[in-house]
Amino acid sequence: MNQNKGILYLVPSPIGNLNDISKRIIDTLNSVDCIFCEDTRNTQKLLNLLNIKKNTISCHEHNEKEMSFKLISLLNEGKDIAYMSDAGYPAISDPGEILVKEVSKNNIKIVPLSGPTASLTALIASSLDTSHFLFYGFLNSKHSERIKEIKEIKDFPYTIIFYEAPHRINETLLDLYELLGDRKITIARELSKIHEEFIYTSLKEITSLNKEFKGELVLVLEGNTIKKDNYDLSLIIEKYNELIKNNISKKDAIISLSIIYKINKNILKKMFINNKKEEN
Ligand code: SAM
Repeated sequence: MNQNKGILYLVPSPIGNLNDISKRIIDTLNSVDCIFCEDTRNTQKLLNLLNIKKNTISCHEHNEKEMSFKLISLLNEGKDIAYMSDAGYPAISDPGEILVKEVSKNNIKIVPLSGPTASLTALIASSLDTSHFLFYGFLNSKHSERIKEIKEIKDFPYTIIFYEAPHRINETLLDLYELLGDRKITIARELSKIHEEFIYTSLKEITSLNKEFKGELVLVLEGNTIKKDNYDLSLIIEKYNELIKNNISKKDAIISLSIIYKINKNILKKMFINNKKEEN
């Protein structure tokens, strides 16, 4: 990395609760030469609350590519710059990805700060599998495209996180139920705000209620966990025993079988444990 060039800091902003701002974020905002941001009015409000005086420069989804050249020329002059979107992590369903792509081609150091993001905040309290997951972000707002997208992820075996707007959520829940059948779903609403709420439900139950949703929402959906009974368990156990006989470790045998039979490896582990209990 060229020491004379500046640093691009990717700075998260609160998703609702101002206290989520860390000391490191404040120190970084105080130290940079200027702040590129999605909406200068929003970021200015935050800077006023933090009593930080810095120049802000607008860089949003419609001008990100052009602004990346201005950003790179300032970084090349040795200026340190922060980029902030309106809420949460930049580049997560927000502008920032193009800036990072362009800046990274120029031998310039990029430092991401950790902080609030709605996706992981919702996931960790969802009660669904957190060991593997897909962050999907927003499904397409056009119905025909949304249907295509849902079909593409139908067989995905792990938890899936969606962002959704309150005026579209009921339509989306119905599409998910019609195309994927019944699954567990957790709806996280107004995270970190006064009216924070987690609704632990299923697609069948929630679509039957036709509930009115307000505020900001994250949907955390159970993956395609195929039931144990759908498999020829004795065949899978036979294959497992064969692998063990051939000196393959239990862990590797489970990984191989999960790939061959397209079964989540945690489900396979549970299947073997249950089977052992039945044998005893
Ligand atoms: N960059 C942000 C992040 O890191 O989470 C996401 C920005 S995206 C434009 C806005 C969407 O994030 C909202 O429509 C909602 O789905 C989700 N979101 C943001 N803040 C939220 C909150 N406090 N509670 C629930 N969902 C939130």
